[in-house]
Amino acid sequence: NPALTQIGDQMSNLTGVRAIMKDIVETLQAGAGREFINLSAGNPLILPEVEQLWRDCTAELLASDEYGEVVCRYGSSQGYGPLIKAIANDFNRRYNLKLSDRNILITPGSQTLYFYAANAFGGYSSGGDLKQIVLPLSPDYTGYGGVSLVPEALIAYKPTLDIDVSAHRFKYRPDFSQLTITENTGCVIFSRPCNPTGNVMTDEEVRKIAALAAPYDVPVFIDSAYAPPFPALNFTEMTPVFGSNILHCMSLSKAGLPGERIGVAIGDAKLIQVLESFQTNMCIHPSRYGQAIAAQAINSGALAEIAERVIRPFYQNKFTVLENTLNAAMPQDLPWFLHRGEGAIFAWLWLKDLPITDWELYQQLKQVGVIVVPGSTFFPGLRESWLHKQQCLRISLTASDAEIATGMQRLAKVTEQVYQRA
Ligand code: PLP
Repeated sequence: NPALTQIGDQMSNLTGVRAIMKDIVETLQAGAGREFINLSAGNPLILPEVEQLWRDCTAELLASDEYGEVVCRYGSSQGYGPLIKAIANDFNRRYNLKLSDRNILITPGSQTLYFYAANAFGGYSSGGDLKQIVLPLSPDYTGYGGVSLVPEALIAYKPTLDIDVSAHRFKYRPDFSQLTITENTGCVIFSRPCNPTGNVMTDEEVRKIAALAAPYDVPVFIDSAYAPPFPALNFTEMTPVFGSNILHCMSLSKAGLPGERIGVAIGDAKLIQVLESFQTNMCIHPSRYGQAIAAQAINSGALAEIAERVIRPFYQNKFTVLENTLNAAMPQDLPWFLHRGEGAIFAWLWLKDLPITDWELYQQLKQVGVIVVPGSTFFPGLRESWLHKQQCLRISLTASDAEIATGMQRLAKVTEQVYQRA
């Protein structure tokens, strides 16, 4: 094996949820023939109406004179012009903004965008200081765990918990008494709605974080992979927040195009320029076929319409099935708390005082044919020990209603036994 650099070594490790996914794939392969209820997937389901939309847009592209221009030629590093224009028009109309094409960058998936952001703004400055990448509310997206080439730059903050004991519900909130943004902060990143918890930070919380960052010119990346206008996977009212130091970051992955890898950053032209240069060095520009069909679906209004009419109710209904089943099946006297289902495609369960670790519970659930993701993988950057980290599970809403219901009944039974044995 060739000797790897420090970065080579870091990047060739499986981090966070990728490591768990490997275990899950092996479990599914080893248990071939056994029926597993897989509630681990982060892959959205293929909804027929959504697939049809992309099929129709593809047919239109194939029939148009633009086809050769789209796939047979290089384009601008900033992204495909008609898509940038479509997004600017849509957002200007919808949110009363004054975006020009200089405010928008298209990237090959939004994961790439966070990689650019983390390394352009976080890590060692030319003066040698460590600029932190701040995650203001942990748990958050596990994918932030691997984006920095300087892992020590990533720092996450413990939240406060709003707990409704009798309803068995809770909600995370940023802990403003701890959150620190200073001249040593390089950038701030958080997801809204949040993967894994389904939390939606309030507009006020978002504005407060942006205001803390503004005096130091710290950019705030709001990962809106589940936000309106598409895929509109918010189950509670929320409005996208814009501002001079805010980058509103989107993804078309949960709107049915994960395979095409389309991420979008919207914000100040100078910040967009930094990210664009990073992109030129990395990959010249993202692939253009997906961008071309996305431009059509946004211009016609079909994408935002399908998001609200099809995508959102589909997953919201799954959450209701999960919630109703847990309410019926979980013992009232156990300290279980489901995070408020405010968006995204996951449910997040906290089992307070759980007598075993989340990893052990994950193993026991596999024994009864149910696969979820242990929660401890969703605290990238949170270095302090906190028992809560080992007391949570992420449950995907991408299974059938019947599978979700059966899975939650089995989970209730296993959980009850675990607490009883202790
Ligand atoms: N951000 C969040 C919160 C996600 O859940 C995901 C994918 O699951 C991503 C970013 C990355 O998405 P993509 O690179 O497909 O745009």
